[in-house]
Amino acid sequence: MEILMKKKIGLFWLKDDFRITKNLGLIQATKKHDQVVVFYLYKKKKFINQEAQKWWIGESLKEFRGKLANLNINLEIIGTDSYKSFFDKLFQKDNYSIYWNKSYEPDYLNFDDYLIKNLTSSNIKFEIFKGNILNEFDEVKKSDGSPFKVFTPFWKNAEKIFLEKIPSLEKKISKCKKKISFFKNTINENEIFPRKKWFKKFEKYWSPGENNAIKELRNFINKGIEDYSESRNFPSKIGTSKLSPFIKHGQIHVETIWKECSNNKKKGVEKFLTEIGWREFNHSLINNFPYMLKGNYSRKFDKFPWQKNSKHLIAWKKGLTGYPIVDAGMRELNATGWMHNRVRMIVGSFLVKHLLINWVEGEKYFKNCLLDYNQANNVSGWQWVAGCGADAAPYFRIFNPILQGEKFDKEGVYVKKWIPELKNVPKSFLHKPWELKNENILKLGRDYPEPIVVHEKARLKALEAFKKI
Ligand SMILES: Cc1cc2nc3c(=O)[nH]c(=O)nc-3n(C[C@H](O)[C@H](O)[C@H](O)COP(=O)(O)OP(=O)(O)OC[C@H]3O[C@@H](n4cnc5c(N)ncnc54)[C@H](O)[C@@H]3O)c2cc1C
Repeated sequence: MEILMKKKIGLFWLKDDFRITKNLGLIQATKKHDQVVVFYLYKKKKFINQEAQKWWIGESLKEFRGKLANLNINLEIIGTDSYKSFFDKLFQKDNYSIYWNKSYEPDYLNFDDYLIKNLTSSNIKFEIFKGNILNEFDEVKKSDGSPFKVFTPFWKNAEKIFLEKIPSLEKKISKCKKKISFFKNTINENEIFPRKKWFKKFEKYWSPGENNAIKELRNFINKGIEDYSESRNFPSKIGTSKLSPFIKHGQIHVETIWKECSNNKKKGVEKFLTEIGWREFNHSLINNFPYMLKGNYSRKFDKFPWQKNSKHLIAWKKGLTGYPIVDAGMRELNATGWMHNRVRMIVGSFLVKHLLINWVEGEKYFKNCLLDYNQANNVSGWQWVAGCGADAAPYFRIFNPILQGEKFDKEGVYVKKWIPELKNVPKSFLHKPWELKNENILKLGRDYPEPIVVHEKARLKALEAFKKI
């Protein structure tokens, strides 16, 4: 990497912060410098099993580049194998100050320590700002200074701490005097999109970008939030905000969500903000107990007799288990890069409890397919489902996929949408098509798979396995 010499340059390291509003590091850089360059480091290795996100990031870079251009700021993308080697070269220059917002993955926070040490010893000015979170994870602690392990007291405390803060003034971003380049050998976002164009299907469902994030939020507040507490459980309804990929990529700050919601006295607001609270809790968990990123939060699960069965795992991934609500969920994920929360819990429970496959496999697959993949929510979500997480669902509570389907997709609208093979199956058989003995409507094994396990037998087997720990 070769650097062109320019004076008084403000560099902003763009990570998951694709927004102008409440982008504290970027705002500060434009306040302090006439010339600012935003740079994005594309570390190919990081995305090897995180394919779907490449599409969202590629689209977001395109959109953000346009926004920044209006402010006379260049967005430069640099391909690198390691953040360390990139920054080690950058430390050798001194014609810039650097700004960034925190990312709340332990690896990023550890790397911040490395940057702070080296920038200080190289006499390079830097400033670090709060990222996309309500409270810093170490702000919310029990009275004895230890981290919370249970959600409800955590959230009670976290809300109080957040509300006690003096609301920060909404600083405005300044337009820079002149657009300049800083890095050589930059790449184009087209190099980030996966080579095969399988991601084209996402365009039908999503429009990444900051303007769309706020539009989606306001639309949800106007039309969806009132009934959120009830309708959030029904995957065929537009019952949730679908903001998760926007939040993940920082296209909307959670403080903005908080403010827009709190200005509204509608019924579902409190419940909705509680879900934002779960995101805060999960970030606190992975940073206070980082070992859970590599294994079970509850160590007793280290002895759990997981089974390896690649046939079952593939059937689960493809949405071919023979259980319609599970298959519909997996097909929704494969087609849209997103899955409804209720169904995430059902498919997760099925993998871990009916198939006895280690939750790590599910976590890995979600990471690859989710547009909203984030380390904190995915690892904690999976461990919640598996029963080995903090404040998790007890292992012995095993979702019955037939009853879950009948309860939360009574009319079968969701299942029929994702499994068109079932479109003629009468409602009473939709969640247990094997009971329909009418091959003119559906022939199992030909039109739709036989169930890969029998629910009741699988349930008893799971309970037996649980006894071993
Ligand atoms: C096995 C499993 C894996 C998951 N993996 C992820 C993941 O990788 N990324 C991710 O963002 N969420 C994950 N979740 C949480 C949740 O399913 C999604 O956040 C939610 O479905 C996103 O849809 P929404 O934006 O419409 O949510 P809404 O109901 O509108 O909620 C608003 C926001 O609150 C947060 N939120 C909502 N539910 C949860 C929850 N249960 N836990 C933590 N935060 C929540 C999200 O940021 C969400 O965008 C996972 C859940 C499970 C059970």
